[in-house]
Amino acid sequence: MRIALFGAPGVGKGSQATFLSQNQGLEHISTGVILRSALRSGSDVGIEAKKYMDDSQLVPGHIVRVLAEEAITRNHYDHFVLDGYPRTIEQAEWLSEFLSEHEAMLQCVVNLVVSNEIIVGRLSQRRVHIETGENFHLEYKPPPSGIDPELIIQRKDDLPESIFRRLEVYQKQTHPLVDYYKDKNLMVEVDGVGTFEDVHARILSTIYNFAASE
Ligand code: AMP
Repeated sequence: MRIALFGAPGVGKGSQATFLSQNQGLEHISTGVILRSALRSGSDVGIEAKKYMDDSQLVPGHIVRVLAEEAITRNHYDHFVLDGYPRTIEQAEWLSEFLSEHEAMLQCVVNLVVSNEIIVGRLSQRRVHIETGENFHLEYKPPPSGIDPELIIQRKDDLPESIFRRLEVYQKQTHPLVDYYKDKNLMVEVDGVGTFEDVHARILSTIYNFAASE
């Protein structure tokens, strides 16, 4: 199965993709997680990406393209869930070209829909495990007590002014992909409001219905 989770920052793509990878045997490919790991390792890519990420802007496409394509290649072009890639029409075109070269087109793009009001509430309460990248929510999914609190951090881009900037970037640069994928009959909308389990069940039934109708 080759799917992408799509939606604004904070709709729950990362947590849902992590769970899909654990339960459905799909590789979770998140360009955000890969970039944050490059940043921590101090690699050239990380150093270059940092200035954009700190400013809540998109990292230049040619950088992310390489990272995404490497990850998909490592996974033999199948059994993956993309999270946060593609984020522009240009990236979507690259992805489509790359996957078609390997006869492995995307099967479904799940658009998780959540209002901006809920997103702001979720992101300001989000915390992340600095090593595993696992997301927590202070109220609904607090970090387990056994974890060293030093490893649980608030992402810089989850601070209030950054959240609004990222939502603006999403609206301008990423949201046009909704029509792009609708035109290709690949986009399905899933209500992203509700408990984690409810949203997950909706995603699962959507992707299996979609796969069955292919
Ligand atoms: P995320 O963890 O998906 O919210 O990504 C965190 C940050 O990484 C974003 O705000 C961007 O700066 C950068 N980033 C992640 N994926 C992409 C992408 N596909 N294109 C450009 N920048 C990206």
